[in-house]
Amino acid sequence: MNFPYGGRLHAMPQEGAPALQARNLRVTYPGAERSALEDVSLAVEHGEKVALIGPNGAGKSTLIKAVAGLIAPDSGQILVYGNRVGACHHRTAYVPQRGEVRWNFPVTVEQAVMMGRYAHLGWLKRPGAKDRAAVSRALEAMNLLPLSGQQVGNLSGGQQQRVMLARALAQESDLLLLDEPLNNVDVRTQALIFDILDQLAIEGKTIIVSTHDLGTLEAEFRRAIFLDRAVVADGPVQQVINPDLLARAYGFQPHICPPEPEAFEVEFQR
Ligand code: ADP
Ligand code: MG
Repeated sequence: MNFPYGGRLHAMPQEGAPALQARNLRVTYPGAERSALEDVSLAVEHGEKVALIGPNGAGKSTLIKAVAGLIAPDSGQILVYGNRVGACHHRTAYVPQRGEVRWNFPVTVEQAVMMGRYAHLGWLKRPGAKDRAAVSRALEAMNLLPLSGQQVGNLSGGQQQRVMLARALAQESDLLLLDEPLNNVDVRTQALIFDILDQLAIEGKTIIVSTHDLGTLEAEFRRAIFLDRAVVADGPVQQVINPDLLARAYGFQPHICPPEPEAFEVEFQR
C-alpha cells in the first residue's frame, strides 16, 4: 500500500550511490517561453556542503524544488541516495525561500517545528517521546526555546527563518536543501547556521545551500555550483567565482555599457 505523505515509503539508500545525482534535467513552467532548467547534470556526495549560486531567475529554487519532489521535470532523472525522488521523503528536508511560506498560518513555533516530524510519522499518528526530543533539540540548536509558544506569524523575518531551519533539523534528514537560508538573518544567526551545517556535514549529512551572498562563499564553502539555467561552473569556490564569470552572470560588463548620454542626444537629433 502506498502512503504518499510519509511514514511508510522509506526506501533504503542504494549502496555506493551519491547523495544526489541529477542527469539532463529540464524543467519548463507551464506557459513559459523557455525552460527554467536545461540539461542540468550534477552529483553531490555524502557529507558535502555545496553552495548553489547564480543570478536571480537562474533556476536555483527550481532545482531545489525538483530535488525536493515539488516540481516534476519535463525530462531527465533525479536520484536521491540512488532512489527516485519520493521513494523516501523523510531522507530529504527542504527549507523554502522565506517569501514562499504562508506565515499567517495559526501555529506556534513548537508546532511548526514538529511538522518536520510528520515525514516520519505520517499525518495520523501522534508524536511520541522520540519526536518531542528531536523537536526540543532543534529548538535549542536554533535558539528558539524562549519563543516556542509564540505564533509564527508574530515573529521577525530572521526568527521565522530560524523556525524553518529548526523544522528541517527536527526532521533529522540526510539531505538538506536550503533555499536562501541566509536572507533576513543577522551575522550572529548566520554564524550559528554555518556552525550547525558544518556539524551536520561532519556527521555525513549532505547540504545544498542556495545563496546570492557571494561574500560568505570562500569562508564557508569548498564547492560551489554556478547555475544559470544550465550548470555554468562546478568546482572549488575560488575557481567558480572568477571575475569573468561573475561579470557575465551578474551583468557587470563594461564593454556593453550603454552609450554616453551625449551620444544618445546626437543620435536623437538626427
Ligand atoms: P532563482 O531561484 O535562481 O532566482 P527560480 O528557480 O525562482 O530562480 O526561477 C527560474 C525561472 O523560472 C525564472 O525565470 C522565473 O521567473 C521562473 N519561474 C519560477 N517559478 C515559476 C512559476 N511558479 N511559474 C512560472 N515561472 C516560474
Ligand atoms: Mg530562488
